[in-house]
Amino acid sequence: MGGLAICLVASALLAVWIASPSGRTLAQIDAMHQQIAAQKTELQQVRDNAQRDVSRMAIKLGELQADSARLDALGQRLVVAGKLDPKEFDFNEPAGVGGPEKAVPPARSLPFDLTVSMEQLARRFDSQQDQLGVLQSLLTDRQVASSLIPSGMPINDGYITSPYGMRIDPFTGRESFHPGLDIGAYKGEQVHAVAAGVVTYAGVRPGYGNVVEIDHGDGYMTRYAHNNKLLAHVGEHVQAGEVISDAGSTGRSTGPHVHFEVWHDGKLVNPLAYVRR
Ligand SMILES: [Zn+2]
Repeated sequence: MGGLAICLVASALLAVWIASPSGRTLAQIDAMHQQIAAQKTELQQVRDNAQRDVSRMAIKLGELQADSARLDALGQRLVVAGKLDPKEFDFNEPAGVGGPEKAVPPARSLPFDLTVSMEQLARRFDSQQDQLGVLQSLLTDRQVASSLIPSGMPINDGYITSPYGMRIDPFTGRESFHPGLDIGAYKGEQVHAVAAGVVTYAGVRPGYGNVVEIDHGDGYMTRYAHNNKLLAHVGEHVQAGEVISDAGSTGRSTGPHVHFEVWHDGKLVNPLAYVRR
């Protein structure tokens, strides 16, 4: 029965693995949580039936121990798949969590080594559940954090027409500092927020024309300039990829494009490092 459960969980894991790269690790953790819960129930049943059939219990216990070992191996693979630091996260070590000790009534009538084995296995299941909880929260935190860090292009399949840094100014012909990336777009093309955040400005700024600014928290701000039409409003929460404006050529611009800036802690940074993520 334990073997069958492992097979079912393994097929379910394979299905989610193929289905979605982003949510699959968390889905796997859910599956493992369910598996461990089922095994704990089985262990309890073994305990309850123990007096009746000691030898059958020993076989069952062996199966559960094997299942537990497989879960350890699976957990280690998740650490690798989730690109977590294996040092930070060790399935073979108990998780660093507290809580009151649960008093387990001793099954005095059972052979000593079987009782000890069952207690060890029960503790191992508890530890595996704790570790999965830690893994789950680490991955969830990181998913949230990564949706706030600027990544990707404001224009789908956009190409860079002018890089960040020193360049020849297209209006003066003199060398000057260009504080963002220019990304080619046609007039009216959708401009996307590169990360989740709150719109802090939507209006005209000298030189920038119609501009949208988004605060992403954690010191990050992005700016999208020269828009034809603004769609986002100040105070609005936007998601990563949400359409915030239509591209255009307002302000100091030679033709339709998005001038895209990334600020971190009040300083301009090269957006290229973020769009390449
Ligand atoms: Zn520009």
